[in-house]
Amino acid sequence: MLLMLIELTQSIKMEYENKYQHVPAAKYECLLFDVDDTLYPLSSGLSKACTKNIEEFMIQKLGIEGNKVTEINRVLYKNYGTSMAGLRAVGYNFDHDDYHSFVHGRLPYENLKPDPVMRSLLLSLPIRKVIFSNGDKVHVAKVLRKLGLEDCFERVISFETLNPTNGSSTSDGEDSLKLRGLSSEILDATNCPCQSALPETPIICKPFENAFEQAFNIANINPQKTLFFDDSVRNIQTGKQIGLHTVLVGTSQRTNGADYALESIHNIREALPELWEADNKKSEGVRYSGEVAIQTSVMA
Ligand SMILES: [Mg+2]
Repeated sequence: MLLMLIELTQSIKMEYENKYQHVPAAKYECLLFDVDDTLYPLSSGLSKACTKNIEEFMIQKLGIEGNKVTEINRVLYKNYGTSMAGLRAVGYNFDHDDYHSFVHGRLPYENLKPDPVMRSLLLSLPIRKVIFSNGDKVHVAKVLRKLGLEDCFERVISFETLNPTNGSSTSDGEDSLKLRGLSSEILDATNCPCQSALPETPIICKPFENAFEQAFNIANINPQKTLFFDDSVRNIQTGKQIGLHTVLVGTSQRTNGADYALESIHNIREALPELWEADNKKSEGVRYSGEVAIQTSVMA
């Protein structure tokens, strides 16, 4: 009889251990968010105004011909992720703070309204939340404040986080002028699919892998346990390659590299209800052990 009881207890113990070990660990430990056109919609008009300001900067500050700026900006943006990274790559020299205040300083921030729906969604998520933006810190802070989301994130990784020195404060010397002369050739090269012809940019920004790697180190992020939200297909694709789980925002069409696609960030709860279950999974584990403990005491 005693032997049977011991065997029974052991089998219950094994059952408990199996069940306990099978409680799934939380799939996501971190949510990583882009800001522009991700936390607010493209229809706000900020992106359009930003492009216009960049083109004005190129004309007024860099002396590029007005009839060429749209095409040059388009090609640089396409190949480098940001216009600034592209302009620096092809040899233009300028102060990063000047660029940001010119380009972002006059954006129609008044178009951004407090978003209490998004705020309560973010605050109810039981997972750490980090911002990862190519924008400068003043711009990111302003956008988050306008949306009423400034206290919803653990930390912000902005342009300055990844590019702590203010770029090129050196004089606009001969080398740069030579490169300017080459700009048109470089732009021709960017139309060919061989990316190796592109000069490197000194700017660290999405969609380049080194930007993601630095962000992971700085914010102690494990990409395998992180869900990344961005409106840029290229950023999503690099993110996926580097191990992140990905959500393309601004369209319901999933493209290569996107695990999920959301027309609006507001759809996050419908598309990803499991994000709110992180706590439930933990309590399931506790409940299992509780049930088994009761059975054991009855048997004994
Ligand atoms: Mg964006």
